Amino acid sequence: MNKSVDAGNITRVDLWIAGRRQRATATRSGDVTNPATGAVIRKVPFCNAADVDAAVKAAASALPGWRDSPPLRRARVMQKFLQLLQANQKELARLVSEEHGKTLPDALGSVQRGIEVVEFACGVPHLLKGEHSENVGTGVDCHTVRQPVGVCAGITPFNFPVMVPLWMFPVAIACGNTFVLKPSEKVPSASMRMAELFKEAGLPDGVLNVVHGDKETVDAILGHPGVNAVSFVGSTPIARYIYETCAKNAKRVQALGGAKNHAVVLPDADLEFTADALTGAAYGSAGERCMAISAVVAVGAAADPLVSLLKKKAEAIMVGPGDKEGVEMGPLVTRQHRDKVAGYVDQGVKEGAKLVVDGRGLKVPGHENGYFLGTTLFDNVTPEMKIYQDEIFGPVLVVLRAQTLEDAIALVNRNPYANGTAIFTESGGAARRFENEIQVGMVGVNVPIPVPVAFYSFGGWKSSLFGDLHVHGMEGVKFYTRTKAITTRWPHQDTPAPGLNMPTLG
Ligand code: NAD
Repeated sequence: MNKSVDAGNITRVDLWIAGRRQRATATRSGDVTNPATGAVIRKVPFCNAADVDAAVKAAASALPGWRDSPPLRRARVMQKFLQLLQANQKELARLVSEEHGKTLPDALGSVQRGIEVVEFACGVPHLLKGEHSENVGTGVDCHTVRQPVGVCAGITPFNFPVMVPLWMFPVAIACGNTFVLKPSEKVPSASMRMAELFKEAGLPDGVLNVVHGDKETVDAILGHPGVNAVSFVGSTPIARYIYETCAKNAKRVQALGGAKNHAVVLPDADLEFTADALTGAAYGSAGERCMAISAVVAVGAAADPLVSLLKKKAEAIMVGPGDKEGVEMGPLVTRQHRDKVAGYVDQGVKEGAKLVVDGRGLKVPGHENGYFLGTTLFDNVTPEMKIYQDEIFGPVLVVLRAQTLEDAIALVNRNPYANGTAIFTESGGAARRFENEIQVGMVGVNVPIPVPVAFYSFGGWKSSLFGDLHVHGMEGVKFYTRTKAITTRWPHQDTPAPGLNMPTLG
């Protein structure tokens, strides 16, 4: 699918600008690896300011035609795109698994969640409707319209190569904007394929463009005067940087950051069910999900039986290459990231946490160069430890102990991250209190990963999101549109023209 071929048979990923593949002018590039084997499978260009400028110019020149085309016509292109995504879901999942490492069934599920945003975007014309009030003054009417923001950009992380871009560009484009996407340089290929499919669906050239790269590329986007709005998803330090830079450059911005998601388990919870749910939420996708449960707060008598169930289930997980039948957990995304996560396990031991399951020694036969790390479980972790404070983003679950629900809620609320959280209990009263008092953007009750469906909006609080609006759902539509309020008076009616004073009567 990446058609350009370099010497050495390593394909070089192209850019997608003005409806066709183009070579970057940039000379810098990076390696895309298959995390299960450690092999370099593609080269990805790190775009410079000239490459970004070409993409923004293509988006700007496509804007008037796309903005002025009827929303229903735009929605019909979206419907065709939806069909093509469904028909190519397996191919997209294979690309995700190949470059990210997650298992094929998990990749397929993540593509499905992205497709659901496109289903939502097909109905966007309904959400573009404004308000109308007759006679706000005598003979005067007022109405509002939602107009597109202009050229929007999306900068996305490595862990959901299809889903996170689909949180952004379908909603932006359905609202009449044009778009420049900069996917993670670790997983660039799925975005290219989606751009091709969108063109096949009838999207006019230039409405969606794809550039690749690292900080240089991102800075060229943030500094480009032709970009009106930026959506970002990634780690907290970069999210903060994006937010501050966009604010300085007077661009609309939403910047979603990292996470440390807690599950609070009360003694009355069904512990077998809870341990199954937590095992999937902690180790699925090797813990590389922004909604992964990475900290369990076991309350009172729940702790001992829960830890022994978690140990048994963590040890039973089959780890291996993501495309092998029966494998439940794949490798981490890069060698550097694997080593960083393993370093946290060393650190946890030094800090005095109890290492219940140690994934450091894991070997996957035939995949000795893959970036594997086994499931790891710590007990007796305290809030002072780095393994609790930092987002590890790997298959490492830490268990803290609390005496009461009140203590557990206070612990979760003291954490600077606030993406997702869950409570496990049979008590409606306890769940309701948790739901009400917890300072986190997305909450599950006996649901470990409470990702809102596409027609709700996704987003955390505090250091997990900088900005005002969440992604997709109605908040996505609000982000990608500006409201205009129009007040109308028609002459030749029985009302006098306004004088010099502000009117006091309606
Ligand atoms: P990252 O912050 O390293 O990279 C995200 C994007 O920013 C990439 O496109 C990357 O090229 C770019 N980037 C990296 N360094 C940059 C710099 N110095 N200046 C400008 N741009 C830069 O994140 P990642 O490692 O790709 O993804 C994992 C992180 O994303 C985790 O922290 C995870 O929690 C978070 N995440 C959050 C959500 C959410 O919805 N809140 C969803 C998915 C992932």
